[in-house]
Amino acid sequence: MEAVSNLSLKSFKRTKIVATIGPSTDSYEAILGLIQAGANGLRLNFSHGTHEERTRQIGWIRHASGVVGKPVAIIQDLQGPKIRLGDFEGVVNVRKGQALSLKYQADYAQTGHLPTQYDLSSKVKRGERIYLYDGKVQATVTTVREGIVYVKIENDGILIKRKGINLPDTDFGGDIITKKDKADIVYGSTQDIDYVSLSFIQTVDDIVKLRKMLTNLGSTAKVIAKIETRAAVENIDSIVREGDAVMIARGDLAVETPPESVPIVQRQIIALGIRYAKPTIVATQMLLSMTELPEPTRAEVSDVATAVLVGADCVMLSDETANGKYPIEAVAMMKRVICYTEDHAPLGVVFPEHTDHSRQTAISKAIISLADTIQARAIVAETKSGATALQIASQRSKIPLIAVTNDTRTAQQLAIVYDVKTYVRPIDLHAASKLTDWLLKQHVLGKGDMVVTASGQHPGVVGTTDTIKVRVLE
Ligand code: PEP
Repeated sequence: MEAVSNLSLKSFKRTKIVATIGPSTDSYEAILGLIQAGANGLRLNFSHGTHEERTRQIGWIRHASGVVGKPVAIIQDLQGPKIRLGDFEGVVNVRKGQALSLKYQADYAQTGHLPTQYDLSSKVKRGERIYLYDGKVQATVTTVREGIVYVKIENDGILIKRKGINLPDTDFGGDIITKKDKADIVYGSTQDIDYVSLSFIQTVDDIVKLRKMLTNLGSTAKVIAKIETRAAVENIDSIVREGDAVMIARGDLAVETPPESVPIVQRQIIALGIRYAKPTIVATQMLLSMTELPEPTRAEVSDVATAVLVGADCVMLSDETANGKYPIEAVAMMKRVICYTEDHAPLGVVFPEHTDHSRQTAISKAIISLADTIQARAIVAETKSGATALQIASQRSKIPLIAVTNDTRTAQQLAIVYDVKTYVRPIDLHAASKLTDWLLKQHVLGKGDMVVTASGQHPGVVGTTDTIKVRVLE
């Protein structure tokens, strides 16, 4: 990608938007519309769709991003062990206290066992809870025998084919990357993908495993830890530290953990993301009513604003842009809420203690302090891997942050990081002063603007940022 042509500090949102591609946005025009309306990251949900469709969409995204002049992150969202009921006719009524049996790929009419799309019998144990139909029907395992899981139903309800199953108590023993995920990871490694998000992770080992696979495949994609299980919440500190980014996947999370705990968990994860300089994405049902209607509810607007106020890096749209009637309008509405909130209220972030004594953290703190004191127009950071920009962004300064990199992948990955505007240019040995002159020439900054620059003596080399300068542009 060439230099970012539409980069402007006049009006911009700091909190970024991720939109999910689906049937409603499966065209070049729709994708262009999403990016123009304010999407910074596009999520490809690998629970659906074929590789051919994905390849086509990736091509459209990169083309549209070039046309708009804005780097966009592409997120490959793996299905993970998303367990569903299998196919059966009609609706099955269940009653509290009733016994029921579940079997992998069973024929319900012939055997009386409800079919599942995953062999639960190898994972669940007696006494564990099974949530059927996305938690609408709760059951407890009574026996597991010869591949059949026997349960006791805990409440009256109905069951419909292919509805989701959650196993809040089950330990997958580090075995959450399915055969389908593996094939999708191999496919993704041949594509221009910036992030791979791993569903239903339980421990940090799941992230390590995925990262190893990506490295072996020569992929430079970063890993997003999707928090949607009870185990992940229990292991949250180590997961945030190990992952490259975190998604608060509130859909499944509110089934696997008490729904009333999710807003608090959301805040805790965002605070940890800020502490460890890891981008956070708040996902699911943010503007859900816009799937059908042109306007969101008051509560949805408030939900987006709350995520902004507590310092999330991104807010995400799922069904709204994948299957909704108003995908572009949903992104535009999200942008309006973000901009208004950012313009009218200070961030309500409680900044956790930074116990990190690394050079990068120290430099980023010094940059912010300097920029705040002199009321700089912008901070301009030269970054190879994006680490310097991530560290500065994690201080949640009010000063706009421009990251300059020679690495297109880094620019795309920084697209979903709070506050960062990224500018791609070739390696330039003349470093900081050349850089600001160049930004001036591109009209990103104006004459008289005061900026703080961070650069290194070895542009393009990871971890070498060591020089801070104050410049008044002439
Ligand atoms: C979620 O459960 O909130 C989520 C984002 O997961 P998915 O949409 O992939 O099911």
